[in-house]
Amino acid sequence: MAKYLMLLLITVFIHSSVFAHIGGHNAASSSDKIWENTRTKEKFRGSFLYATEKTVFIETIDGKLQEIPISLLSESGKQIVTFEKQRITSLNQHKFAQFKYKANNSEANNTNQQSLTYLYLLLLSGILVLSISWIYKRIIHVQPLFLKMGYGTLAIILFWAYGTACKKSSASSNTGTASNTGITSFTNNPLSMDSAFNPYKPAVTTSWNSNYFLIASNGLPSHNMMVGITAWQQQVPIPQAYTGTNAWSIPLNPSYATSPLSTKTNLMKGAVAVAVNGIPIFNALNNRGEDSYAIGELDQWGGHCGKADDYHYHAAPLHLQASSGLKPIAYALDGFAIYGNKEPDGTSMTSLDTCHGHAIGNAAYHYHGTTNYPYVVGAMKGKLSLDPSTTAPENQILPQAFTKPIRPAGTPLSGASITAFTSNGTNNGYLLEYMIGTKKGAIQYSWTSAGKYSFTFTDVNGNVSTQTY
Ligand SMILES: [Zn+2]
Ligand SMILES: [Zn+2]
Repeated sequence: MAKYLMLLLITVFIHSSVFAHIGGHNAASSSDKIWENTRTKEKFRGSFLYATEKTVFIETIDGKLQEIPISLLSESGKQIVTFEKQRITSLNQHKFAQFKYKANNSEANNTNQQSLTYLYLLLLSGILVLSISWIYKRIIHVQPLFLKMGYGTLAIILFWAYGTACKKSSASSNTGTASNTGITSFTNNPLSMDSAFNPYKPAVTTSWNSNYFLIASNGLPSHNMMVGITAWQQQVPIPQAYTGTNAWSIPLNPSYATSPLSTKTNLMKGAVAVAVNGIPIFNALNNRGEDSYAIGELDQWGGHCGKADDYHYHAAPLHLQASSGLKPIAYALDGFAIYGNKEPDGTSMTSLDTCHGHAIGNAAYHYHGTTNYPYVVGAMKGKLSLDPSTTAPENQILPQAFTKPIRPAGTPLSGASITAFTSNGTNNGYLLEYMIGTKKGAIQYSWTSAGKYSFTFTDVNGNVSTQTY
């Protein structure tokens, strides 16, 4: 009987050790990274073990425990700590999400639950086989064929059977969809979100409540604008009141949509995301369904102005990576981060799904900006509230920050290309210059703190007109 018990224990051991890697097949790992203490300049190789609010504990490859204040880590080190903290949070939520699943019995094909079922079935069959063998040998005095094969063979068969079940579940969890991993909702860490906005403060200000991360800005970026536009509607950038109750709102507790809303047939009104410099990002298609970038509507930074003279991007503001590094360059209005052309850990971007993003391991879903359509978001991965007064394709997400036009909307100026855009030096006005053929035109404009605007238009024939609003 001792032998049987031993075999039973081996079977349980094999199963439990295999079980330890469920869900970890594609989880990013921080093992074997070079960590640097920027004060002492000391570098060592090791893996992330644990982090408190201010300190990270690293297990070095020679098995020693190293303790470093997070503030003294290099940028990439800080990035790993943030990533690992988020991973741990989402792992915990993963468990919670599974619990919720069981509670409302809404998802039948959860593969992690499937592999757990396999495991228990195999364990039960192992016990059954051993009990039958024992009865045969001790009571009926006949040794069954499978016992002649030996315990080792039996263990190998059980191991192989479980391995097959495990492979099956990991193959489907690699797709990383909500139904496969069991993850349905996430909690964004507002402090970690906030760090993405740091390079753009104080022009951008941030705050948060229990539901939303709020981004306030005047809608004017610190980079130049308008130069390079060849399809121009005669709109120019002016400040916007994206502040107070009209600040941009990013959900702190996003959840996956059952069927992500495609930006090809939806959301051609209003923004779909906000860049970390406080500039909204609109659908890659304009409100006529055309690829804004491809038809020359955008400047060298992927932006232009709407009917309210509101500057916004339609392409991915990848230029922000120069200041943002590996941090997100934007947040989508469904609550998921948008990274540039690298993964958060600095490695090359891996393949994207139809929404234009992916979930790596158990980490929250994120999008990526690219240089080709759909540039930013292909479909909204997260659940949305839509403005009930709008209809597809010109529907829009709520909450949304709104603009207030100060003058009637402009019309296309055929053949014009914008050649220069300069500040008037007092931060309250600009000079925009354009060419039609070899002839030059310009708009000079400024505003007062009370919101009074004066415009001087000089057309390509030299005619000058002024207008105040
Ligand atoms: Zn636009
Ligand atoms: Zn990614």
